[in-house]
Amino acid sequence: MAFETLASDFYGFEDLLGEREKEFITNLRSELETKIKPIVNEYWERAEFPHQIVEVLHGTGTIGLGFPQTAAFENSAVFRGWVALELARVDASVSTYVGVQNGLALGAIGVCGSDEQRAEWLPKLASGEVIGAFGLTEPTSGSDSAQGLQTVATRDGDNWVLNGSKRWIGNATFSDITVIWAKSAEDGQVKGFIVPTSTPGYTATKIEGKQSLRMVQNADITLENVVVPESLRLQNANSFRDTAAVLRLTRAEVAWAAVGVAIGAYEAALKYSQERVQFGKPIAKHQLIQDLLVKSIGNITASIALCTRVSQMLDDGQQRDEHSALAKAFATARMRETVAWCREILGGNGIVIEYDVARFFADAEALYSYEGTREMNTLIVGRAITGEAAFV
Ligand SMILES: Cc1cc2nc3c(=O)[nH]c(=O)nc-3n(C[C@H](O)[C@H](O)[C@H](O)COP(=O)(O)OP(=O)(O)OC[C@H]3O[C@@H](n4cnc5c(N)ncnc54)[C@H](O)[C@@H]3O)c2cc1C
Repeated sequence: MAFETLASDFYGFEDLLGEREKEFITNLRSELETKIKPIVNEYWERAEFPHQIVEVLHGTGTIGLGFPQTAAFENSAVFRGWVALELARVDASVSTYVGVQNGLALGAIGVCGSDEQRAEWLPKLASGEVIGAFGLTEPTSGSDSAQGLQTVATRDGDNWVLNGSKRWIGNATFSDITVIWAKSAEDGQVKGFIVPTSTPGYTATKIEGKQSLRMVQNADITLENVVVPESLRLQNANSFRDTAAVLRLTRAEVAWAAVGVAIGAYEAALKYSQERVQFGKPIAKHQLIQDLLVKSIGNITASIALCTRVSQMLDDGQQRDEHSALAKAFATARMRETVAWCREILGGNGIVIEYDVARFFADAEALYSYEGTREMNTLIVGRAITGEAAFV
């Protein structure tokens, strides 16, 4: 099957992808279209995770693309961004599953693990043999997790004992391991631990009633005297700076996913506008509808340009925290505008699940807030450009 540039990639940024990368995207698109897209609305409504998609997603080779131990071929950060975009263009819960498994769980071990830890865990996470989660946020600490973590790790000989609680942890109702971030009782620094979820004292309870990313299973976790051997402490996570190094990578990918959500809504709205007839002609022929469509493609195109550059900077070793923070804040804000315009184009049908736009509209809210809210990412950029930290 030949690679086709998306019509919604208005300036043809996909031309920057290599041949092998285009082949990969072509196959991924086909798998998403035939095996995943047909079931997402049903599972979204039921607020259940479709476990059958795990095999499909891992089978495409999507998980582990960022690390030499698990990538099938050498690839660029721009390509990995397009992969996140393609997933979210079909469904944001699907892209979030991959974001957690790949960027947060595998990524935390890839960035902060020792060579032995990478050799042991990365292949298992990439194949789907082990499902991972990433436990940073707590009931009393979201935006201020750099300083506010209450979960404590106490050294006890060759072991660590973890006590505390976590909130919002994606995939955690069914994960085999969860990377838990906790403050060391010894030096007060944040450290990371690979915690097998079967460990006594570890419990995860699904958060019910979520109206965004309904397919993603987020959990509250409690840790009561959970004993973890020193061999499962991430050997290169010595302070929150190391946690932030993981988030820098994942934030840029959430920016790409936000573009995917905007495109998913835009493509559905464009199609609808060409089919829906009012005042004797398709609504696409009305100037005010074209205005909404053009503003949407403008947001999408500007966001792709920004994301492309931030990914190129990663490959060139130039990307700093403020660069990915700006991409995340900008792309999610543009996504939020875009999904609202697209919903408007569908009139009443814009709030009915079968037309897809309602799902993108609702899911946009979670992407806007997770992996650093717009305010937090704004403050990271503000600190970089003024030299003044304004977090407190
Ligand atoms: C669907 C979903 C999935 C998630 N998955 C995970 C996961 O897998 N693992 C994980 O660890 N976490 C996860 N999270 C948590 C997520 O990262 C947090 O929700 C996010 O960081 C915000 O924290 P909070 O919800 O506690 O909001 P708060 O920190 O309480 O913020 C509330 C509001 O106050 C604003 N605010 C806070 N401080 C300031 C300030 N100094 N100046 C100005 N405004 C401020 C915020 O921007 C926000 O608008 C997930 C969240 C969601 C919704």
